[in-house]
Amino acid sequence: MPLQPLLPAATIAANMAELKPALRRQEALVEANRCLYCFDAPCIMACPAGIDVPAFIKKIAHGNPVAAAKTILTANILGASCARVCPTSVLCEGACVLEDRDEQPIQIGRLQRYATDYVAERGIKVFSLPAQTSGKRVAVIGAGPAGLACAAELAQLGHTVVVFEKQARPGGLNTYGIAYYKMKPDVSLAEAELVGSLGVELRCGLTIGKDLTVAQLEKAFDAIFVGVGLGAATRLRIPGENLPEVVDALDFIDQIHTHPLDRVPIGRRVVVIGAGNTAIDAVTQSLRLGAEQATVVYRRSEGDMSAYNFEYQLAKHDGARFLFNVMPVEVRGSAGHVIGLRLVRTRAGADGRPEPIPETEYIEPCDLVLKAVGQEKQVALLRQLFPALQIDSRGVIAHDPLTGQTNVPHIFTGGDCANGGREVVNAVGEGKKAAHGIHTFLTKETATPLVQPSRLGAKQGSSGSGLLSPIRAHELVEALKK
Ligand SMILES: Cc1cc2nc3c(=O)[nH]c(=O)nc-3n(C[C@H](O)[C@H](O)[C@H](O)COP(=O)(O)OP(=O)(O)OC[C@H]3O[C@@H](n4cnc5c(N)ncnc54)[C@H](O)[C@@H]3O)c2cc1C
Ligand code: SF4
Repeated sequence: MPLQPLLPAATIAANMAELKPALRRQEALVEANRCLYCFDAPCIMACPAGIDVPAFIKKIAHGNPVAAAKTILTANILGASCARVCPTSVLCEGACVLEDRDEQPIQIGRLQRYATDYVAERGIKVFSLPAQTSGKRVAVIGAGPAGLACAAELAQLGHTVVVFEKQARPGGLNTYGIAYYKMKPDVSLAEAELVGSLGVELRCGLTIGKDLTVAQLEKAFDAIFVGVGLGAATRLRIPGENLPEVVDALDFIDQIHTHPLDRVPIGRRVVVIGAGNTAIDAVTQSLRLGAEQATVVYRRSEGDMSAYNFEYQLAKHDGARFLFNVMPVEVRGSAGHVIGLRLVRTRAGADGRPEPIPETEYIEPCDLVLKAVGQEKQVALLRQLFPALQIDSRGVIAHDPLTGQTNVPHIFTGGDCANGGREVVNAVGEGKKAAHGIHTFLTKETATPLVQPSRLGAKQGSSGSGLLSPIRAHELVEALKK
């Protein structure tokens, strides 16, 4: 049977509502006042973007959310989305000293959201524009978190930046991949607009390697940042994989972000292959869209799962089934549609890798199979775009971790294509580091931001790009295309 939506719009909207709603003012004040404002605060050390957590919390406690937002956004331009999507329990909140006292850690993510929402909802700007430009131009390939963070930092350092993005909308996986109940795409899109308001030109719908060549970019720009992320889901390489209801979990999640929720087709019995965070997001969203049964199958044991425990608990709470030590060997079809997944039980082999146990095969009935066994590395794309670039044995771009610089001096990198796939906040941190590396490369100076923070609390009208003296990058791109 072809798949179809299963629940009415209102039910799906309720199921997909945000798990962690915004704090009200009084709640934020009470929470902020619990903070000990630790010296050498471990929560700062645990934040890959280096946000001064006690400083922003103190500003909230003093009733100044605008100043708090400035502290956050200066360190992390994607502070609003990180407030929603960061695995805080293993980062800042996991490091909070209150845990050692058997108290609840400070809800840093929700306080961060309180402050960043405060300025976003009121159109309050916390950045002023650079007084001067450097005359240097940087091309950023990919408008995901890494590319946007790099671009924003470079703009604040006075450089002219153009971001090239192949998708119609910016934000990368932050716009198209995050579980819907954690964050809606409009938060990510608003952040891209914030980057644009710093004078960065965002050129969406342009694929580097197709619409423009790297050679063209090299002629027009002084440095390039590569933030192309990872590729499609890893193939299963089993019979039946080409049936229409065998879907890349990323494509399934993409549909949730690009279609009305009540138009997303879903199976009654869904099987998700893999046990990382993407698998958990896929199984949980399947259930929230109306799947009657949703099952994760994983060839190793429960203890080997790479998904965060809090994500695993959420999926179990939502009713997901978990089958461990089983491996798919065939997708079964009938009349051209999926009817089941043939599984074989596994045990750990001599080398620790799972091996099939003979004569233990059985069929798990299902009508939708979601593949979540990891994303391919972009090795082919990278070799095509940059033949001289060194790719390491893991299939990611070799680079200096302190500066993001690659073996080709004017090319820098960060984010998933350089770290192999981590979190949004890692991509932000690496994008920022690379921006400082690029600045040093272009100017031979250590970076000092040219942007001076605007007077705290000053209202500067609505956001939007075009506030800087025009970059003329649009004309430049049009000229390159001719
Ligand atoms: C399903 C899923 C759920 C996730 N959930 C979370 C979460 O809850 N919390 C969290 O912190 N992290 C999460 N992550 C991880 C996080 O999304 C990534 O680590 C982060 O987005 C990486 O940022 P990036 O900029 O390196 O790559 P991406 O976000 O992948 O962005 C790369 C961009 O480059 C563009 N691009 C690629 N090739 C070209 C080209 N040739 N020309 C122009 N543009 C190009 C792409 O279209 C894309 O927009 C999740 C990841 C997945 C897959
Ligand atoms: S570790 Fe916890 S209590 Fe200490 S400054 Fe950070 S959030 Fe506040």
